[in-house]
Amino acid sequence: MATTYRNLIGGEWLGPGTRRYLENRNPADTSDLIGRFPDSGAADVDRAVAAAARAFEGWRRVPAPARGDLLRRLGDLLAREKEALAQGMTREMGKVLAETRGDVQEGIDTAYYAASEGRRLFGRTVPSELRHKWAMSWRRPIGVCGLITPFNFPLAIPTWKMFPALVCGNTVVLKPAEDVPWTAHRLVELAEEAGFPPGVINLVHGRGETAGRALVAHPDVPVLSFTGSTTTGAGIGEVAGRMHKRLSLEMGGKNAMIVLDDADLDLALEGVLWGAFGTTGQRCTATSRLLLHRKVHDRFLARLAARAARLRIGDGRAPGTEMGPLIHAAARDTVEAYVAVGRAEGAELVTGGGRPRGAALARGWFFQPTIFAGVRPGSRLEQEEIFGPVLSVVRIGSLEEAIRISNGVRYGLSSAVYTRDAQAAFQALERLDNGITYINAPTIGAEAHLPFGGVKQTGNGHREGGWEVYEFFSETKVGYVDYSGALQRAQIDNYQDGS
Ligand code: NAD
Repeated sequence: MATTYRNLIGGEWLGPGTRRYLENRNPADTSDLIGRFPDSGAADVDRAVAAAARAFEGWRRVPAPARGDLLRRLGDLLAREKEALAQGMTREMGKVLAETRGDVQEGIDTAYYAASEGRRLFGRTVPSELRHKWAMSWRRPIGVCGLITPFNFPLAIPTWKMFPALVCGNTVVLKPAEDVPWTAHRLVELAEEAGFPPGVINLVHGRGETAGRALVAHPDVPVLSFTGSTTTGAGIGEVAGRMHKRLSLEMGGKNAMIVLDDADLDLALEGVLWGAFGTTGQRCTATSRLLLHRKVHDRFLARLAARAARLRIGDGRAPGTEMGPLIHAAARDTVEAYVAVGRAEGAELVTGGGRPRGAALARGWFFQPTIFAGVRPGSRLEQEEIFGPVLSVVRIGSLEEAIRISNGVRYGLSSAVYTRDAQAAFQALERLDNGITYINAPTIGAEAHLPFGGVKQTGNGHREGGWEVYEFFSETKVGYVDYSGALQRAQIDNYQDGS
């Protein structure tokens, strides 16, 4: 009998008012039922928001360094549980253990970074225009933050949002992706153990269309932070705009790796395999386009195809597995549909393109590492986010052409350039239109203390990570103190007599 899980609302573990549950199954073996999780409705969201609003009044008064101390304790607990979390995360999400361990490590790094931020949260003290007057700014919390997260980084992405929100003095309601509820459940259980007061962190499981939608439209949630698809983000943006909510959107990508003719091809080969097929291609930063210089095109492609075809597919918990399954049936249907699109558009299928054979893989959502060559810039295969293990190769003749093609999509998250030419590297850094560019490294691999996010339809101008996310989760307040004992008029009295 599978375990039935609950929501965490105001410090209590409660079943959903709907009395409905969603099954969570292992994508590598769908006969493996992990548990039943609440299919919550609007009334559950209401209850969680009310609990978070009540807790806000106390939490905002806890000194920021003390809030940070709790996050440090939570970081320690995540470190203690790293292996168990990684094992459970692979079971519910599919990516290989090395990656789920990395996912947990990102949460640990984010916790320690947030803990230290509790002792900074810098404001500014600046000179006043006038004598005997102080001018300063500082950061204040905003209120209840609604956090909506995707399936592909089940621990890291919730922590990217939750930890900065908390250290700034806000309370949160997390609605994790319905495909990875177990990891979110463990995260908030560990937060309880760390000693966060009841109601500061609330967890509501459920579907986007119901629980997610209710959280977005809730009038007592002034801040929303969403990571997911560009289509979902656009809908959330409409509601947030109408309701004047503060909104951070992190959405899709169509990231290109450029390999120039002077590149270290061995290095580029390892990079593209990791970038394109890591997490089974289900990363917002996945390398989904390879812009390959014509002088190295044929020999590089031959080596790449041979290596991709040999990648070991299987259960991410089995030793030696290099690529796990897709998240669910619909994701595999999408990938299969794009393979048909590629064929119809006249691209050449170099390797993969189908489901792998073997009894061990029959019960999971597996798909072969797939490479199309001769992909035309502007075609659907080259333009649209597939979110699966499909790499589109485009032949290029120059850096100039590569930059134009890389920039010619509606997304702008990440890019990579392999070259030994410093001039080419710096030109690319300057001219590629995205949030992150890697030189001689693949399109993936962000670090917690630098901002993460993209331009164009990848985002809406905000960033996660780094200092920037603390700007998002706090309001700037300004204070002026005039101790002159006289009326001093800014912009008027200071320049009257030139003194
Ligand atoms: P998704 O948009 O389907 O779902 C994301 C979350 O939104 C889930 O929790 C879902 O339940 C919820 N949701 C769905 N419909 C909703 C609605 N109408 N109202 C409120 N919430 C709703 O995305 P996904 O399939 O889980 O994740 C894949 C997408 O996420 C890809 O496009 C990928 O590029 C993107 N992503 C972006 C980043 C980034 O930082 N830029 C990181 C990871 C993933």
